[in-house]
Amino acid sequence: MKYFDAHMHVVDVKLIYEAQRKDVSTFICNATSQKDWNAVLSLSDQIPGVYACLGIHPWYVNTVSDDWRSRLEAYLKYRPNLMIGEIGLDLLKPDFERQKEVFRSSLELASQYNRTVHIHCVKAWDALFEILSEFKNLNCLFHRFSGDAVVAQKLRFTNSFFSVMNKNVLDILPDNRILVESDSPDGIRSPAFIPELVEKLRLDPSYLAENFEEFITRIGS
Ligand SMILES: [Zn+2]
Repeated sequence: MKYFDAHMHVVDVKLIYEAQRKDVSTFICNATSQKDWNAVLSLSDQIPGVYACLGIHPWYVNTVSDDWRSRLEAYLKYRPNLMIGEIGLDLLKPDFERQKEVFRSSLELASQYNRTVHIHCVKAWDALFEILSEFKNLNCLFHRFSGDAVVAQKLRFTNSFFSVMNKNVLDILPDNRILVESDSPDGIRSPAFIPELVEKLRLDPSYLAENFEEFITRIGS
């Protein structure tokens, strides 16, 4: 059985090779700020099965250059499989107005270039729904989903997938939209632990693989 890691960050290549030996074959590598864009792209260019996402994480919105948006757009233009992430809103962190601006700009690019977005949302669901409602047909992946049943119900009507590490949200999510993630290196130490995570969550690896196949068909333009 082949496994995947639906959300991780830049890690030592040795950890990717270690994961491949455990049958984890596909990895979605997210940037957090402009500083790691090159590292994300080089990991993805270097290793087949590593997909790249570039974006500005809500924790780092105050580190962006004035031209971050046009730089991101330049990459999107010539990389048809490039996704946008990690982006989002986090009410527990500063600069919330700036977070909303950067998030909205990122979704504008996603909509224009028809790309999937990888979203971090912590305690900011009202603001998130308000901004999302400005866009149609976005492909979203909510990573480390932390919403409640009401939020999950609202998101059922969108094209969203959910990547999880914890059992407590599984009951409120649609079975055919569940993916798993390591969030390495800050979540689980290495994507090599994905098979153990799947076992711990008591998920069926073959239906997870089907969900992921469906997800991956719509990542790019
Ligand atoms: Zn992350």
